[in-house]
Amino acid sequence: MRGAEAADAAFAAGEVQGPLQGIPVALKDNMCTRGMPTTCSSKILDGYEPPYDATVAARLRAGGAVIVGKTNLDEFAMGSSTENSAYGPTFNPWDPATVPGGSSGGSAAAVAAGTALVALGSDTGGSIRQPASLCGIVGMKPTYGLVSRYGLIAFASSLDQIGPMTRTVADAVALLETVAGFDPLDATSYRGEVPSFGRSLEAGVAGLRIGVVTELTSEGIDSQVLGAVTSMLDDLAEAGADISEVSLPSTTYGLPAYYLIAPAECSANLARFDGVRYGLRVEGETTEEMMARTRAEGFGPEVVRRVLLGTYALSAGYYDAFYGRALRVRTLIRRDFERAYEDVDVLVSPTSPTTAFAVGERAADPLAMYYSDVCTIPSNLTGDPGISVPIGVDDAGLPIGFQVMAPALEEERLFRVAAEVERLAAFSARPALATSEVVAS
Ligand code: GLN
Repeated sequence: MRGAEAADAAFAAGEVQGPLQGIPVALKDNMCTRGMPTTCSSKILDGYEPPYDATVAARLRAGGAVIVGKTNLDEFAMGSSTENSAYGPTFNPWDPATVPGGSSGGSAAAVAAGTALVALGSDTGGSIRQPASLCGIVGMKPTYGLVSRYGLIAFASSLDQIGPMTRTVADAVALLETVAGFDPLDATSYRGEVPSFGRSLEAGVAGLRIGVVTELTSEGIDSQVLGAVTSMLDDLAEAGADISEVSLPSTTYGLPAYYLIAPAECSANLARFDGVRYGLRVEGETTEEMMARTRAEGFGPEVVRRVLLGTYALSAGYYDAFYGRALRVRTLIRRDFERAYEDVDVLVSPTSPTTAFAVGERAADPLAMYYSDVCTIPSNLTGDPGISVPIGVDDAGLPIGFQVMAPALEEERLFRVAAEVERLAAFSARPALATSEVVAS
């Protein structure tokens, strides 16, 4: 309420803070907010209140945005369904018997249901785009380095990226422009100027070369999802785009490479939760016992699995066989993309192989859960931007997302295609559980 009053006062004084002045924003709860708890949906951060704002939170506040809440996530952003939260699952507002996707499922559900106008999520392997797809909203992962990671609780530092989750592509542009740009507090922050993306929204796709990724439009993709994607490709062709098929053979190994690299990095990042510096502490006879008890009690089963896998993959005898090999695969995937972009301007695919799945359906089967991100993980390994735009619903009335990918720092091109997809899809369906304002719009 104080934020809203401050925005009103700024309006009354004729002060223009930016496009988000007075706009209610939700933040995924892995972004530090001064004076508000930040839990990462983990018991280990119980009671933690950061003494500082993440750069994105500071930039939102400076832009007059009103942070209305923090949203649920899979613990430490590890998951694809928001069922791995120590505070309980989030349900999909389109059908509460299904998951909203994850790990930014709370942000996706909040925007879909209209409890926040826009939200920020984080995407390490698809955690913005996949829940956006399952909740029928727009979700965008910017180029690695475009948005500061300072104050984002680290999962896998070479993959993590913050980005917008919104109802329209234009809103994604406004939110991205507010939070993007160089930050000396993040050593991997991009130093160049961030262009203004708004003008690309009206440019259309005439003459643009769109490559359809063969490996992400064949085996393992639900037929209704494929049907919707194919019909969007026909519409894009009619709008003047030049559509062709492009093969990225190494992407087949994207999933296994990711599930070595991400756990390896997380095992190092999560070492800081030792019962001394943050949140939870479970006492023990010795310091070591205190640390072991704190970590055993504080981390949920998926986090424990990742820390164990990562520690193993980095251990002396296995480092090269697992981690080293995964890094080499990452290079091959990057080369596949570079080669593809010699012939096409953007690449497209479904965002998620299926629409929202039932609550509990994949919870006991980690591999089935991991497969949810097969289409989104490649862009994290390359560091390139990707966006999901809703294009329709399946027979059960659940949303289907269309993914557009572009080379690093070519956000303008990405938004240009995304805006055309949005116009062509004219997606107007709204979730069953939404505020009346969303239903009315
Ligand atoms: N679902 C993937 C994982 O569990 C991606 C998560 C993410 O992007 N944060 O690691």
